[in-house]
Amino acid sequence: MSFTLINGKFIASIIKEDIKIEVEDLKSKGINPCLAVILAGDNKASEKYVSFKEKTCLELGIKSVIFRLSEGIDEEEIHKLIDELNHNPSINGILVQLPLPRHMNQNNILQKIDPLKDVDGFTPYCLGRLLIDNPLFIPCTPKGIMRLLDAYEIQIEKKHAVVVGRSIIVGKPLSLLLLRRNATVTVCHSKTEGLKEITRKADILCVAVGVPNFITADMVKDGAVIIDIGINVTNYGKVVGDVDFESIKEKASYITPVPGGVGPMTIAMLMENTVYATKLQKGLV
Ligand code: NDP
Repeated sequence: MSFTLINGKFIASIIKEDIKIEVEDLKSKGINPCLAVILAGDNKASEKYVSFKEKTCLELGIKSVIFRLSEGIDEEEIHKLIDELNHNPSINGILVQLPLPRHMNQNNILQKIDPLKDVDGFTPYCLGRLLIDNPLFIPCTPKGIMRLLDAYEIQIEKKHAVVVGRSIIVGKPLSLLLLRRNATVTVCHSKTEGLKEITRKADILCVAVGVPNFITADMVKDGAVIIDIGINVTNYGKVVGDVDFESIKEKASYITPVPGGVGPMTIAMLMENTVYATKLQKGLV
């Protein structure tokens, strides 16, 4: 069977071009979108993600301010910083890079962010708005996945979508977004029994587990759409997804590569959310 590679890098580049024009337009009105990123601790992967975000902001003309905090910092200090950023009118978006150091309470920190500046969409307010079908900011990775499905005109309605992984960042919001588009959604996790029987029934299979080659060809139905969200670094330093791409691609109708699939969309959606936050705060939407 011949498959179509879902080129997230390309779709993201088109979206970024549009954002760049929008940013220029805002700047011509004296408005400078600005994203604040809080990075606590010395997680190497987080450092890398933050530098990608910083670079993309620069590319699109969005100002970014990075707050690098030590691993041992007191949680109260982060609360105080978020409070200051919430009240600073020149800051439009606030992002706390996850994971946070172990001693911190992630929920307590995230819920401090002003929902109007919650460009990651992880505050209880934004997640609640998504749940009641009236989203404000949608988490970037699931939002990017939906945009990829639409860019390739992949039918969602009436399809059986299986989401493997139930994190707040990916799995849960993604299943809500698929449900909103009238897919029949099954969510799987580490306690799911008979995973293979479930994934084999998926028309659209989305995988966010964080284990290289977790999904193998025998777990996939012929003609399925495969969305690989995983980002894993092998012992040889190679970046791979959660799906055994080489064996599965021949069975798939559409498949995302890693890298170059979902990853670039996540950053593009963050930029889009930052510009939207800016417009919202300036009363332009
Ligand atoms: P989490 O570790 O928060 O969640 C992993 C999920 O996988 C959990 O729900 C867990 O179940 C489930 N899981 C673990 N083992 C199994 C198993 N044997 N069978 C079925 N389900 C299982 O990860 P994230 O959601 O944050 O990230 C997942 C992957 O996506 C990672 O590789 C991450 O790097 C990547 N990622 C990529 C992004 C991108 O932009 N492309 C953005 C964000 C993440 P349980 O809940 O029961 O523990």
